[in-house]
Amino acid sequence: MKEQFDLTIIGGGTTGLYAAFYAGMRNMKTKVIEYQPGLGGKVSFFYPEKKIYDVGGFLGVTGEELVHRVEEQAGSIEPEIVTDEKVKSIEKQVDGSFILHSEDGNQHLSKTVIVASGLGTFDMKPLNVPQLEKYNQKFIHYTIQNIKQYEGKKAVVVSDSRVGIDWALALEKIAKEVHIINHSQEFKAVYEQDVERLEASSVRIHRNTKVSGLEGSETELTGVVLENRERLDAEHVLVYEGLKIEKSLYQEWGLETEKGRIPVEMNMGTNIEGIFAAGDAALYPHKTMLIASGFTEAMTAVNAAKSYIDPKSKSQVYSTVIYKHS
Ligand SMILES: Cc1cc2nc3c(=O)[nH]c(=O)nc-3n(C[C@H](O)[C@H](O)[C@H](O)COP(=O)(O)OP(=O)(O)OC[C@H]3O[C@@H](n4cnc5c(N)ncnc54)[C@H](O)[C@@H]3O)c2cc1C
Repeated sequence: MKEQFDLTIIGGGTTGLYAAFYAGMRNMKTKVIEYQPGLGGKVSFFYPEKKIYDVGGFLGVTGEELVHRVEEQAGSIEPEIVTDEKVKSIEKQVDGSFILHSEDGNQHLSKTVIVASGLGTFDMKPLNVPQLEKYNQKFIHYTIQNIKQYEGKKAVVVSDSRVGIDWALALEKIAKEVHIINHSQEFKAVYEQDVERLEASSVRIHRNTKVSGLEGSETELTGVVLENRERLDAEHVLVYEGLKIEKSLYQEWGLETEKGRIPVEMNMGTNIEGIFAAGDAALYPHKTMLIASGFTEAMTAVNAAKSYIDPKSKSQVYSTVIYKHS
């Protein structure tokens, strides 16, 4: 018989992770289910290297550092974290609890659910070269996380967009040599200043060409070969050639939706009792899609989930009172 959790959170982005921590404060046995192999959601995916200035208490924090801190905070209450798994549907039982079904056939039992899955899942378009499998895990990257690994290294960015330009310029500060490969003549969705900054930098720009092959041994990548047969030294390749976004089909989970998001009550409750939504997934008047809003909504949703399970529980708690030792 599978173990039943008090709360299962769908989505390990900043909202889901903070909800997990807060649920720990409310003594709830908690599980987080995340589709990606790693945590942090959009922040990890889209802007780990950028500084975020609008989260309280931080006068500028990189996306990566913020995710690290939220992960650490969540980890302190030891929730069960399941990665590489996509929730496909939620089934409500006659006793008011839920079975979450994942795409690969797993089932998760839970008394309550918080949907913190943003607008859905995203996958990067892979680099189209024959030797990809050999180097994929270690040397081909689809986000710029753990930027220190590029220190003193030779890196190639494959992209025709502003994200690629941002990555190349961030790498330029620490890497030994940076190239950017654009399969067309122009960069897409960029401001003129972005291209000017790139052209003024030491990043070598290659237009109208593609990476056609990778070179190296079993243990290291040493270079890339371009369509025009030019060979570049490269120890790491970073690829941003677009995303495949798969919107969450919340209606199929029985949830009401508006513009692909979930309308919520003031306690973050959805149309299904026992299921709550928070973060980018949730919608209400004057909603802001920001990290800090997700944190507050996570707290509200956890408190509401707690009182769904135990109507006599306090509507909120103070950490200063709970954590008496510090
Ligand atoms: C380019 C950009 C810049 C931004 N800049 C800022 C900024 O400066 N300040 C700020 O406050 N906000 C900013 N934001 C917004 C901020 O990133 C989002 O509000 C925040 O990341 C939302 O977090 P979330 O956890 O609610 O959702 P997400 O970060 O989207 O996390 C949802 C997670 O759920 C997972 N998931 C989805 N469906 C399933 C499923 N079926 N099963 C399992 N897992 C699933 C996804 O893989 C994902 O990891 C920016 C956003 C973008 C795109």
